[in-house]
Amino acid sequence: MDNRYSRQQLFRPIGEKGQQQLNEKHVLIIGVGALGSASAEALVRAGVGKLTIIDRDYVEWSNLQRQQLYTEQDAQEKIPKVIAAKNRLQSINSAVEINGFVLDAFSNELIGLLKDVDLMIDATDNFDVRFMMNDLAQKYQIPWIYGSCIGSYGATYTIVPGKTPCLHCLLKVLPNTGMTCDTVGIISPAVQIVAAYQVSEALKLLVGNEDARRKSYLTFDVWQNQHYEINVEKMRHEDCPSCGENPTYPYLSYENQTKLEILCGRDAIQIRPPKPIHYHFDQLAVQLSPYGEIQKNPYLLSCQATDYRVVIFRDGRVVIHGIQDIEKAKSIYYQLLG
Ligand SMILES: [Zn+2]
Repeated sequence: MDNRYSRQQLFRPIGEKGQQQLNEKHVLIIGVGALGSASAEALVRAGVGKLTIIDRDYVEWSNLQRQQLYTEQDAQEKIPKVIAAKNRLQSINSAVEINGFVLDAFSNELIGLLKDVDLMIDATDNFDVRFMMNDLAQKYQIPWIYGSCIGSYGATYTIVPGKTPCLHCLLKVLPNTGMTCDTVGIISPAVQIVAAYQVSEALKLLVGNEDARRKSYLTFDVWQNQHYEINVEKMRHEDCPSCGENPTYPYLSYENQTKLEILCGRDAIQIRPPKPIHYHFDQLAVQLSPYGEIQKNPYLLSCQATDYRVVIFRDGRVVIHGIQDIEKAKSIYYQLLG
């Protein structure tokens, strides 16, 4: 038990002191899909003191190819990712304090979770959430590590408020945001490489080895054997709305938080009501049973209709699978729940 971290402590830049520092740190990971699974497992094995994970989805069969914390049973039972992840992570290292929240990243509850967070890791699949994280990071002065991957391509960048350009400053170098895993797919090595870079950067920052921090924006394509580093140190804008002299934090505004989204990773539309609605699942099961077969667990209720499937979460979020038309999604929403 005592030599659990011996190999990591033998690594000079960490040492016994660094290990002690890790043990006192709190990391928040937003999203526990592929990237989040990989970095959560690495950080828990490395002995970080406290880990908070948030995610809005449940485990599906199409996740198992790359989301390393999950099993067939999790997919079968539609277990929320944070619940399945927390159980698995806790069995890997029982000494780490792990908190999991089934939560949409746009929720105001996220702000309450930022207290005493030393570092955030981006493991989301969309730029709306990343720009919101970017504003939160600047407002609350929390370093964060951007990461994204699609197909065989990946990108990562480390953002330290007050020291580096923020994500907003880098708009010109960011990849085309129109592509999703739905359209071009993804292979697991791309995920593992991005996560490895993110975790390395996290370890450097958590043990205070600021000099070792990578200053460049890094991208690669592991299938095409390409690797680029873009020097972005001079890209900080004085009038940046997120990190400039008079920040307005545009992505924290209410208008930016109330819209329909197309989820990545499946053919589905999520509808999030402006305020949380707490459904009574037993009642709802009766109300929706004429539309299709009902399946429920403590976290969600699903109704399988002929040509679509509706999943309702505890906080009132609704995901409609099998359709892509936003107007049709709204009409199903109002018909079933309005
Ligand atoms: Zn900026």
